[in-house]
Amino acid sequence: MLAFARLLFLIGVLNLFGGCAPPPIQQRTLYVFGTLVDVRVASADRNAFDAAMREIEQRFQGMHHALHAWQPGMLVDLNTAIASGKTRCVSAEIVQLIERSAQAERASGERFNAAIGGLIGLWGFHTDEPLTGDPPPAAEVIRKLVAARPRVTDLSIDGAGCVRSSNPTVSLDFGGIAKGSAVDAAIGILRKHGLDNAIVNAGGDLRAVGSRDGLPWRIGVRHPKQGGALAEIEVIGDESVFTSGNYERFNEYDGVRYAHILDPQTGYPVVGIASATVIHKDADWADAAATALVVAGVAHWQEVVTGMQLDQVLLVDEQGHLHMTPAMQARVKRVSAASLNH
Ligand code: ADP
Ligand code: MG
Repeated sequence: MLAFARLLFLIGVLNLFGGCAPPPIQQRTLYVFGTLVDVRVASADRNAFDAAMREIEQRFQGMHHALHAWQPGMLVDLNTAIASGKTRCVSAEIVQLIERSAQAERASGERFNAAIGGLIGLWGFHTDEPLTGDPPPAAEVIRKLVAARPRVTDLSIDGAGCVRSSNPTVSLDFGGIAKGSAVDAAIGILRKHGLDNAIVNAGGDLRAVGSRDGLPWRIGVRHPKQGGALAEIEVIGDESVFTSGNYERFNEYDGVRYAHILDPQTGYPVVGIASATVIHKDADWADAAATALVVAGVAHWQEVVTGMQLDQVLLVDEQGHLHMTPAMQARVKRVSAASLNH
């Protein structure tokens, strides 16, 4: 009996150490919406990886073109039609983004608003070039556009995907959600090819599924003010981690920084929050939520947590203080020493 037990143990140990080398990590870098996207898959299947990457690359190219807010493409055509009161039929992809953005708009108390492309353009953010320090737009022009209250919920879509707006000042800009949507699409394609252990990382915004041979994917959250890692999070299963901030893309005029995230209620760039990080299953929702939290600021972020049914949120305010939901506090592995001083 004892010998039999030993044999079982030995078989167990052999299984543990012999025969099953961890699957290699296959990696490739793609580009979408001005961001490098790092795709890593734990799998030995080279053919599946190559086929999936070809499909992802095509999908990203299509999205880049169709969703651009200021270069010719389907979204610009739609915005032009809306401005002149016309109906325009669009792709299922744009319909989905409109629907998701409308949900996020309602759930965030209109802090996430993908219809404020007019304001974003006015502030000079519709460019691929570095921002050149132009002065802010005239207060009166901002006031008028805010008073017109463009919202995604002004749109109606019929069964054939044809869109019309009750408000001609709606101008769609999916800059706050499209990256998340692209990451979701990439994960969907990987899974379709049987690649269930993967991480798609778009410049620090990512979704991870499965595991690294049973181990969690370990990721760092960047510190918005000091650079380097603010916190380390282990991700296993199916989760997205998205961060929005006012530290990466902004315009500077007369010593004042103007962030590329605008408060739709005032028409002015947000102040007060350096960054917001959200962990959520879906990347598009995490992306929209991170943007909404930056708009809500220290005083109102909890309203966005409730409205968007978020669980794990981390904010860094302009003073470097951290604000976390209890669930995020439990997740964060290591917080940089400098942050702990606050
Ligand atoms: P990042 O691009 O740094 O990941 P975000 O996800 O927050 O940051 O996206 C910022 C972009 O979202 C802006 O460049 C603009 O296109 C768009 N945007 C700005 N303000 C809002 C807002 N209040 N709601 C929705 N989208 C916004
Ligand atoms: Mg966002």
